[in-house]
Amino acid sequence: MSAIATINSDTSQINIEAELVFYGKYASDDLAQKIVLEINQMWNEPSAKLQLGSRLFDIVFDIKFECLDNSEVLLKVLKNKDHAVNFIRIEDKNIAERSMMGFGLGENSGHWLISDQLGESTTAAHEFGHALGLPHPDQLDFRFSGNPPIMVPRGTLVDADFQWNPLAEAGAIGGTMRPIFRRVRAGEVLQVLKNMNPESKVNVKIGKLTNQLFDEMGRPVALNQDLTFE
Ligand SMILES: [Zn+2]
Repeated sequence: MSAIATINSDTSQINIEAELVFYGKYASDDLAQKIVLEINQMWNEPSAKLQLGSRLFDIVFDIKFECLDNSEVLLKVLKNKDHAVNFIRIEDKNIAERSMMGFGLGENSGHWLISDQLGESTTAAHEFGHALGLPHPDQLDFRFSGNPPIMVPRGTLVDADFQWNPLAEAGAIGGTMRPIFRRVRAGEVLQVLKNMNPESKVNVKIGKLTNQLFDEMGRPVALNQDLTFE
């Protein structure tokens, strides 16, 4: 995902803005609304603040969406230079067998699966974090520290209440993190803005523009050769 962070001195806010352009067989306004609601709610929940110079700024996420058909998305991607715009195809399967955001961190192009219960499972908010450049944490034992952070992957150790099965032994079947219990932590929000220094006065671009489209199965489409794709 790419995004733009804008420092607004009048309101003491840093606004992180992104537009998710959805396409593919399962891209609908209903689903897109659920996804964007989950991302905005989860990433705004910790009410993270960043000190710049002598002032404290509230960090506010404002993520929007639109759904386009294949010919519309093609026109848009070919001329896109806007760091706030991301292209995400939504299907029921792909060759990676999971929702993904390109092939590296911070790309503005993805292929997501409805089987990840987008908008009601924390997966969209987790992918959003990857897309803004956040990796999984190095250590994957979050026992005795409350709800696990949004960027932990499946298999992470957590307190019994946050396991698939609270009665399972830690690490055994059912004894790992149930994704629905992940929460964005303020530290994760600050990690997104780690390149914003105290002298920053203008917009900061987050992530990079790969402007890649994917076919139905998640294979990259070569945009300069063929102006139609399925
Ligand atoms: Zn992940």
